[in-house]
Amino acid sequence: MTEPSGPAARVWRSRLLDYLDGHAADMVADLADLVQVPSISGTPEENAIQGVLTERLAGAGLDVDAWPIAMAETLAAEDFPGMEVDRAEAWGTVGRLPGTGDGASLMLNAHVDVVPPGDLDPWGDQVPFCGTVGADAVYGRGACDMKAGLVAALWTVRACAALGVPLRGDLILATVIGEEDGGLGTYAMLRRGWRADACVIPEPTSLDIAPGSSGALTFRLTVRWDLPIPIELGTIAAGDWASSVPGLLTSHGRMGVAIGEDVAAARRALEDTVAEASAADPWLRENPVEVQWQGGQFAPGLTDADAVIIGTVGRAHAAVSGRPQAMWGTPYGSDLRLMTNMGSVPTVHYGPGDARLAHAPRESAPIGELLTAARALTLITLQHCGVR
Ligand SMILES: [Zn+2]
Repeated sequence: MTEPSGPAARVWRSRLLDYLDGHAADMVADLADLVQVPSISGTPEENAIQGVLTERLAGAGLDVDAWPIAMAETLAAEDFPGMEVDRAEAWGTVGRLPGTGDGASLMLNAHVDVVPPGDLDPWGDQVPFCGTVGADAVYGRGACDMKAGLVAALWTVRACAALGVPLRGDLILATVIGEEDGGLGTYAMLRRGWRADACVIPEPTSLDIAPGSSGALTFRLTVRWDLPIPIELGTIAAGDWASSVPGLLTSHGRMGVAIGEDVAAARRALEDTVAEASAADPWLRENPVEVQWQGGQFAPGLTDADAVIIGTVGRAHAAVSGRPQAMWGTPYGSDLRLMTNMGSVPTVHYGPGDARLAHAPRESAPIGELLTAARALTLITLQHCGVR
């Protein structure tokens, strides 16, 4: 089977694909437009873009749930996955296209935050948030990770809403903040009670399917210094003045956690290794390195290989693309683990753009993959939610 079956589904399939083809230029313009919003994690623009998307989802005719995330209460929760930037205000946005209630619900989950542009030199004459449209790609920070996927998802729900497709199951688009620094947005969305029978996160996978993600735990090492007759190392990162004795050395790091590996055991392994190294050194024995786990805590996540959504995504991709699809787990952390571990929602990554360009200078997303992703997500919707 390569496409949703049944006469009604076949009619809707071709009408939806025609609609998307007719709006290809609008999709590209939308991507350029959204890249120009510098929605760096923790900045006011992260909330501003949620406002823009709330309006667009409401304008498309969806039921929209937009709410201010109760920060103090959320951050105090025991299973809160961590945060690396300060936020006084944060917004959740979910748009729902109601189905007739007798089909499976599908969530498309896309994060709106992007990482900072970093050192500007490698960008050359390109402005990081330019949103420039080239012959084959749209350029700028966030184009690949993951505003191209966001736009593909946005046009999937727009197409279904505009044509009045009588879906059986609900189609839900969650736009989330804070993915890059721990997953606040998806965490808060799940705490609010949003769930679906399956979820696709259109993170950049070059249209491969990635049903798992590795974990990443952020930590800080602290060495307290109290040296009476020091040999100064005034230029080490710990110091702030050449003739001052640094009182403290801190080192921030990130440790990968393999899919299937236990987070507590992984933490213990690092703590034990640091403790052993401290014990082996005469000075560190008296001044042991302290390990603190702080910032984003990305546990690994995995969707079962026999989950229905995996086959659905594979078939939809094959129907709209001639490129064979590989399956892998992402070597980085993502919101997938919150959806699978906390939400119990079978979830895969499937989206446009090369993940190697994410977080990199001169980031871009290929227009061809953006359009293919929108077509595939629409077929996934038809197949998964069903149509009357
Ligand atoms: Zn991402």
